[in-house]
Amino acid sequence: MKVPFVNLTKHYESLKPQIDKAIHSVLSAGNFIGGEPVRLFEKNFAGLCSAKHCVGLGNGTDGLFLALRALNISSGDEVITPAWSWISTSEVITAVGAEPVFVDVDSTYYTVTALEIEKKITSRTKAVIVVHLYGQMAEIDRIKELCQHKNIAIIEDCSQAHLSEADGIIAGVAGDCGVFSFYPTKNLGAFGDAGCIITNSKELAIKIRRLANHGGLTKDEHLVEGFNSRLDTLQAAILNVKLPYLSIWTKRRIELAQLYKSELIGIREITLPQVRHNSVHTFHLFVVLAERRDQLRKYLFEREVQSLIHYPKALPFEPAYSYLNHKKSDFPVSVSLQESVLSLPIYPELEKDQIKYVCKSIRSFYETF
Ligand SMILES: *Cc1c(COP(=O)(O)O)cnc(C)c1O
Repeated sequence: MKVPFVNLTKHYESLKPQIDKAIHSVLSAGNFIGGEPVRLFEKNFAGLCSAKHCVGLGNGTDGLFLALRALNISSGDEVITPAWSWISTSEVITAVGAEPVFVDVDSTYYTVTALEIEKKITSRTKAVIVVHLYGQMAEIDRIKELCQHKNIAIIEDCSQAHLSEADGIIAGVAGDCGVFSFYPTKNLGAFGDAGCIITNSKELAIKIRRLANHGGLTKDEHLVEGFNSRLDTLQAAILNVKLPYLSIWTKRRIELAQLYKSELIGIREITLPQVRHNSVHTFHLFVVLAERRDQLRKYLFEREVQSLIHYPKALPFEPAYSYLNHKKSDFPVSVSLQESVLSLPIYPELEKDQIKYVCKSIRSFYETF
């Protein structure tokens, strides 16, 4: 049985008539930048996340960059960011001229904690980028309490956490702003690059919209120097078709994660993902810790089960950050995750039989080797 890591063709086919219609209506209208599809998406996505404002952008990385810019973070400033994340969350800090300060994650949920962030705060700390990883929110209430007390901005990276919740708070509205990626494989994905920022601050929303649009809200206005990072009209039209299904797809991911857990329970060599109390983990990824991970991965691959590693290396140990001269002991949790994390296929179109096959294969690997 083949179990691909993702299947975007199957995903498209599930909505083909509606998506084709949406694409053709943009093509016929001949308006490819901005317009009604973008406005509609911003309105509906803000509504779904209970945010006052949403600004569509070219991608999630731009969102993080523009958030830092809009918060006036620049050279001489420090921004705290997880050692265990995708590189977007640290490269944007350098891009605005500030310094990334890496913090280790906790060993149960793999997200940053107020306790560890506090240790890294200096008089130069201006912001924290909190990443809600794999679909699960970090302890945002405690982090918010700490940052408010110290007058430090919070940018939530929600690229892996569409509709995730913690203590009744939905991802993206607890901090100053929440950044989303709609990269094709994300829980809500476009058919190309796309992203957005949500915020309850009108001032921040306007600032980000200006920055993303050459410094103005209209074509002929350049209040400041900006950039070009707009949500593409075609992508917005596609996202408008998909948005009403996000809750259903999320429920399906949670259901599939539950099946994985019940099928994998009792395998001593596998550590299952833990869900924080009183929270909604939306399982962008289903990540287990596996003993003899690389050997298992190869075995699964031979049985036509694709798996991935998020991430092969903690950020401070990527060549791009060798100048920081970090030691392994600076980030013990991230270092241990490097050796053992394994992402198993999870997406709404995945069949339950496929999951059972994956789990049976894992079981047989540990029984054999
Ligand atoms: C996907 C992702 C991003 C960046 O998104 P792009 O839209 O590809 O730029 C940022 N942070 C995290 C944690 C991500 O997973």
